[in-house]
Amino acid sequence: MRLRACHPDPLHPVASPVAHTFAGFWTFLLFTARFKGRLVTACRQYLPQLLLLVLLANLADIDFFSGFHRSFTHSLLAAVFIPLAVSCVWRIAGSYWQSAALYFLAYSSHLLIDFFTGTKLGWNSTASGIPLLWPWAKEFGSPVILIVGVKHKDFPALFSVENLHSSLYELLVFGVFTVALVLLWTRFKRVSLQLGPQSNERIP
Ligand SMILES: [Zn+2]
Repeated sequence: MRLRACHPDPLHPVASPVAHTFAGFWTFLLFTARFKGRLVTACRQYLPQLLLLVLLANLADIDFFSGFHRSFTHSLLAAVFIPLAVSCVWRIAGSYWQSAALYFLAYSSHLLIDFFTGTKLGWNSTASGIPLLWPWAKEFGSPVILIVGVKHKDFPALFSVENLHSSLYELLVFGVFTVALVLLWTRFKRVSLQLGPQSNERIP
């Protein structure tokens, strides 16, 4: 864990929407764990739910537009409050608490990814840090960096070759992990179909 003053700094890299979108999709795989059909069918049938989970996984970066990137939205308080609020409006998993838990996973996946984001891979002190315990200004970042974030100093920097490399790295790492999860998901379907083919195809 590192301590750093909680000021917005455009030079601190952040994980791109590529990583967060994949993480949102992982929570969708969890949501459709009881769905008995194919994954493509699940994506089609539950597209609004998929979009909501992906949106929640990216939502914390909405503070990027406020000029105070990595503020309240990157805190545990937001990770609890926002899922509870969304669950009041739409319960995709049947009950209030089941839906809130799913929303929490989608939202907090963002914090987890940002926690492991820095400028250099490996064991070092380059983590960007997030104010997990906001309003306490202390920022937390992992001493092990797994994701090299994209730089967002200005608009041209967003489209730099450096950022292209970071995004491709995320695409590769998160893509491979997603393929592994999809294979697991498919295998789980086969086993559950053998155990109970009479089960309902719909998620409550
Ligand atoms: Zn973020």
